[in-house]
Amino acid sequence: MQYFGKAIQIMPLAEEGEHAAALTGMLEMRFNREDGSVNKFDRQAIEELHESVALLSQQGEQLRGLLVSSGKDDFIVGADVSLFHSIFAQPEEQIIALNSRVHETLDTLQSLPCPTVAVINGVALGGGLELCLALDFRVVDSRAKLGLPEVKLGIFPGWGGTVRLPRMIGADHALEWICRGEQHAAERCLSVGVADALVAPERLRAGGIDLLRQLSDSAAERPPALDFRQRRQQKRQPLQLRPLESLMAFETAKAQVVAATGPHYPAPLSAVKLLQQQAGMSAGDALAAEAKAFVKMAQHWVCHNLVSVFLGDQFLKKQLSRMTRNASRISRVGVIGAGTMGAGIAAQSVSHGLPVVLRDISDDALDQALGEVSQTLGRRVDRGRMSRREMQQALTRVRATRSYEDLANTELVVEAVSEDTAVKANVLQALEEAISPQTVLTSNTSTLSISMLAKTLQHPARFCGLHFFNPVHRMPLVEVIRGEHTADSTVAQALSYAARLGKTPVVVGDCPGFLVNRILFPYLAGFMGLVSEGVDIRRIDQVMEAFGWPMGPARLLDVVGMDVAAYAQQVMAAAYPDRMVIADEKNVLQQLVKQGRLGQKAGVGFYRYQPDKRGRQQPRVDPELQQLLVADQSAEAVSDQQIVERLMLPLLMEAVRCLDEGIVGTPQEVDMALIYGLGFPPFRGGALRYLDAEGPAVLCDQADALSHLGGLYAVPPSLRDLARGNGRFYAS
Ligand code: NAD
Repeated sequence: MQYFGKAIQIMPLAEEGEHAAALTGMLEMRFNREDGSVNKFDRQAIEELHESVALLSQQGEQLRGLLVSSGKDDFIVGADVSLFHSIFAQPEEQIIALNSRVHETLDTLQSLPCPTVAVINGVALGGGLELCLALDFRVVDSRAKLGLPEVKLGIFPGWGGTVRLPRMIGADHALEWICRGEQHAAERCLSVGVADALVAPERLRAGGIDLLRQLSDSAAERPPALDFRQRRQQKRQPLQLRPLESLMAFETAKAQVVAATGPHYPAPLSAVKLLQQQAGMSAGDALAAEAKAFVKMAQHWVCHNLVSVFLGDQFLKKQLSRMTRNASRISRVGVIGAGTMGAGIAAQSVSHGLPVVLRDISDDALDQALGEVSQTLGRRVDRGRMSRREMQQALTRVRATRSYEDLANTELVVEAVSEDTAVKANVLQALEEAISPQTVLTSNTSTLSISMLAKTLQHPARFCGLHFFNPVHRMPLVEVIRGEHTADSTVAQALSYAARLGKTPVVVGDCPGFLVNRILFPYLAGFMGLVSEGVDIRRIDQVMEAFGWPMGPARLLDVVGMDVAAYAQQVMAAAYPDRMVIADEKNVLQQLVKQGRLGQKAGVGFYRYQPDKRGRQQPRVDPELQQLLVADQSAEAVSDQQIVERLMLPLLMEAVRCLDEGIVGTPQEVDMALIYGLGFPPFRGGALRYLDAEGPAVLCDQADALSHLGGLYAVPPSLRDLARGNGRFYAS
C-alpha cells in the first residue's frame, strides 16, 4: 500500500542503499511535511493521521511490521499551538469529541496485528511523543529529546499520555514527566523505559529496521521483553500499584507540585489527581477520564494566558529573525567595565562560545571579575549545562586588560562602566579611537539617554543601548535601545549578539527608564505611597506575591540595592515630574539610604538578612523598621484589593503610555518584556492582557477613585477612549 499526504507518507519499508530490497509485508509511515521545516500536528496532519491509520488497519494480517519515522531533523515538535485558542474556545463536548477521536485512532494504531517501532530523531514532544507511546517499541538517537511539555501551556497530555505513560514507566516517573513538563535527553529516556534502544544518529533507521525484523520473525524465540503483545496488554490494564504505594506516590506528588508551582498553575495538580483517579481503571475508562479532565484545563483562563505567552514568544522570535536577516555574525566581543554587569556579560559571552576582551581601569576589579566568570561557569557545570572541559575552554576565551589597544579586533563592544555621564562619555570617545569604524558600540546604561551619549561620538549610527538585567545569566530579557541616529544595521547586530547569548532581545525607544524600568518605577512609587501611610511592608509583599510576583516590592528593592534604586528614582522624577516626583517625607528610598540600609548587600534594608543553614541570605522582619519610616498616622486601613490597585494601576497606566509613545510597537512586546525582564506573572499573560481581562473601564474607574493621590493615577486619554469604546488591546 502507498499513501501520500501533505504531512504523512506511507510506503513499503526498504533498507537504505542503492540495491536495498523492500522488506516483505512491512510498511513505513513517515512524517515529512511538504511545507515547512518541522513536523507538527496541525489540522492537516491530524486529519492525515486518522486517514492513514484507518488504511493501515485495513491491511489486516498482510501487514508484518510498521516503522514510524520522520523525514525532518526532528521527529515531531508537538501540536500547532497557534490553533489552541480557537480550538479551546469551542463547546466542551466538541473538544472532548476531538480528543476522543484521536484516542480511537491511536488505539487502532496500537492494535495493528503486527509489531510497530518508532525511530525517533531529535525532538519528540507533546502529541509527537504520545503517538510514539501508542507504538510497541521506541528507538531513539543520541540527540533525541523527549517530553510532555503541556503543563507549561496550562494543560496536560490529552492524547492518551496520562494513560499510557504511567502504565509503561510507573507512576513516579510518569508524574515527574507530566507535572514538570521538561525535555529529557536520550540516556534518561532509556533509563526510565520510555525508549527501548539508543543508537548513533546514523544508525537510527537501520537499528529500527533490525528490531522490527527480529520482532516480526514468527519462528524466533523471543525474550519476554520483545513480546509486543504483552506490552500492549500492560498499557490496557489498570496500573499495578498496591494501595500504600499508590497513596505514597500520589500524595507526595501533590505536595511537591503545590510547593513547586504555588496556587496559580492548576494543570500540574489536576494531572496528579487525574492519574490517581485513573490508576484503578482500564485504559478505555482512563482515556475517557483524561478527555473530561483535559477540557477543564483547556478552558481555564490560565491556559488561555499561558498559550498567549507562548505565542508572544514565537512572535518575538519571528520579529528577531526578520530583523537580523542581514546581520553578520559577531565572533569577538569587548566589554568595558569589569563590575557586576561587565563580569556577567563576559561570562554569558564566553559560555556561548564568544571570545571576550574585558577592560577595566582597576586590576582588582579585573581579578574579581575573572573569579566571578569562573564561578558562573562552575554553576553551569553543577547544573549539567556544561562539561568541565567546556568550562576550561570557555575560561581561555576571556582576556583581561587595562589597555584599549587590545580591543582593536573586536566586532561589538559593550560599555558597562559606572553609571556616570562624564565617565561614560570619556570611555566612549576613547573606544572610538581604538576600534575599527565597523565595530558596533553599545552601552549597558540603565538610565542615561542613548541619544545624549551618542552626542560624544563621531559615528553615532553604530551606537545603541544594550540593556542586560541583573543577574545576567538568569534574566532572559535584553533591551536593545535605538537612539536618534542608530542605524538599522547596528540594531540588527546588537539583536543578533543578544540572541547568540541565549537572551530574548526587544527593541525599545530611547526614553528615561527605557521600557521595563520606566514601567517598574511607577509601581514602586505606588508601594512607597503605601509605606508612607504606615502599611506594613511584609503585608504588601505578601499581597503582591499572592498576586503572582516572584517577590514583593520591598524584597525586590532590597535585592536591587536602595542606593541604585534611589538614584534611578531621581532620574525618573526628573523625566516624568507630573507623576514620578515623590515628596521628601514620603521618599522611603532616600530615608533608608540615609540610614545605610542599602538592602541585601548591606545585610539590612527593608528586611534584616541572616544566612540560613546553606549560607543563603534570608530576609527577617525587622521590628525597628516601622519606627524609622516617617508614616502618616492619619492614614486609613487598606484592604488587600486596594494594595493591588495602588501598585498595579501606576504600572498599567505607564505601560499604556509606552505603547502610545511608540517606545515599543506592539502589546506583545510590552507583555513579553515585563514577563522576561521583571518576572510579571506569566499566568496573567502580561500587563496589557491583565488590563484587558480586568476591563479598561473598570481600571479607569479604579484609577479615578485614586486621582487625589496625584499624577501616578492619571488615566492616559487613549485608555479612556478604549474604555469608552469597550475595546481591548488584544483581539481575542
Ligand atoms: P559596577 O560599579 O559594579 O562596575 C563598574 C566598573 O566599571 C568598575 O569595575 C569600575 O572599575 C569600572 N570602570 C570605571 N571607570 C572605568 C573606565 N574608565 N574604564 C574601564 N572601567 C571603568 O557597576 P555595574 O553595576 O556593573 O553597572 C555597570 C553599568 O551597567 C551601569 O551603567 C549600570 O547602570 C548598568 N546596569 C547595572 C545593573 C545592576 O543591577 N548593577 C543592571 C543593569 C544595568
